[in-house]
Amino acid sequence: MKRRKYIFVTGGVMSGVGKGVASSSIALILQARALKVTALKIDPYVNVDAGTMNPTEHGEVFVLDDGDETDQDMGNYERFLNTTLSRVNYMTTGRVYLEVIRKERNLEYKGKNVEVVPDIPLEVISRIEKAAENADADVTVVEIGGTVGEYQNIIFLEAARMLKSKCPDDVAIIMVSYLPMPSKIGEMKTKPTQTASRALNSVGIQADVIIARSEMAIDQKRKDKIALFCNLRPENIISAPDVDSIYDVPINFEKDRLGEILCKVLHVDHKKRVTDLSRWTEFVGKVKKPRGEVKIAVVGKYFDSGSFTLSDVYISILEALKFSAFTLGRKPSITYLNSKDFETGKIKLSELNKYSGVLVPGGFGATGIEGKIKVIQYAREHKIPYFGLCYGMQLEVVEYCRNVLGWKDAHTTEVNPKTTHPVIDIMKEQKENMANAKYGGSMRLGSYPCFLKKGTIAQKAYKKDLINERHRHRYEVNPKFIDDIEKAGLVFSGISPDRQLMEIAELPREVHPFFLGAQFHPEFLARPLDPHPLFTEFIKAAIKKGKK
Ligand code: GLN
Repeated sequence: MKRRKYIFVTGGVMSGVGKGVASSSIALILQARALKVTALKIDPYVNVDAGTMNPTEHGEVFVLDDGDETDQDMGNYERFLNTTLSRVNYMTTGRVYLEVIRKERNLEYKGKNVEVVPDIPLEVISRIEKAAENADADVTVVEIGGTVGEYQNIIFLEAARMLKSKCPDDVAIIMVSYLPMPSKIGEMKTKPTQTASRALNSVGIQADVIIARSEMAIDQKRKDKIALFCNLRPENIISAPDVDSIYDVPINFEKDRLGEILCKVLHVDHKKRVTDLSRWTEFVGKVKKPRGEVKIAVVGKYFDSGSFTLSDVYISILEALKFSAFTLGRKPSITYLNSKDFETGKIKLSELNKYSGVLVPGGFGATGIEGKIKVIQYAREHKIPYFGLCYGMQLEVVEYCRNVLGWKDAHTTEVNPKTTHPVIDIMKEQKENMANAKYGGSMRLGSYPCFLKKGTIAQKAYKKDLINERHRHRYEVNPKFIDDIEKAGLVFSGISPDRQLMEIAELPREVHPFFLGAQFHPEFLARPLDPHPLFTEFIKAAIKKGKK
């Protein structure tokens, strides 16, 4: 059996400085050394998954092939590693306790006292090892959410300590720290990092590497200082300045020889490994030298509360737009418009003419819905490329039924259960879930196959007849109305194998340059080195419109 290696990534000083991107980048530079790498996220909250959290508080819910509703960092791992992860790669405090309690009820602890320590960290370790085995990984990168010194993640740091003390040569600890540069002082301060390093020591852990996040690259003097006060060699302090694009981060890490250092810490013979980041570098080159811009409006509703920024809520969409746009030589210029503003008249529909494409993302509930429907109608009538994702596809169908078929009160029963034309309706099994208040992890989730109709925009974009895409919804196009809708010109170009579920709705190219909605979330499968065909098709149409 091969000797598996583990890298724990913890945060110091403060959160939100890019620990997820750092973890993904570490995973990538090791993968580029021909090592088999997987990544795992630990979220300290009690929720069993991210599915029950409001996006304005938590950011995007990233759905995996197996239907697990996870944290947005999982999206970064999949995108950087160009791989598919599963539910074993994600854990929360809730998930860990749930399993320990299940085992206890099942007498699996054989009558012994079950204690927070060591039984909880042992469960954490067993999950990490399972993820490593599942991927047959040489190296498993484990990102621990939160920062050191918090009460919440202490049990996970204890797991890291236990694993490191059991096999010191196989475990590396990385602390991602922040060096503030107060404007009045004009100098990069190392003291918070020293304090964070001591906090880590106080739970029995010594960092092997410190990633020094700051506005600027860290100089040698400060590297030496951190090294002295945090018990490390100066070369093990890695400079991580702010970057224009997160895709620069792995390249910057390699400039400071992070891959080599980690191989040394983990006793992996690094000379045998050749660093190959050539395809990555080629993509980064395209990001740096676009030939022009493409203007896209994202019309959504998760805008007005919580501590998360917009780009967090729609991060996979934003990334998917970037991959396709940059690959086509364009920089995407993305504007977020609040659909409610189209209802009050704060934004006029004619504003949409400024954009080369309009995208309506997924969502839930009634807020801002009429605004979105108006936007879709405008895009259809004025031939502005339109791309609808999940709710954006359902509302495209509602709009078409109202304004082309003349069913004035057509709606989704999510918003109007009494409509005479419930063109979007709840799925049968979902009705039962809702009646029994089974809300967590109970939607139509994860990857499902879909057949594409020959000659349609979708089929030509994918260049195949059978695809698999990730879902997260309770409602669907009501089969009762399909014939009438198709007769009126909207084409269901993607259909589930049992022909019951409509997965893609589009207008033929002769009628509209690009008017297409997907019941699934294509954004979850878009990768920098493998852009998503539907996003690419949308951007192509937008570039064409921009030229006119
Ligand atoms: N609210 C819709 C449904 O549940 C769409 C969900 C989504 O956009 N993810 O079907």
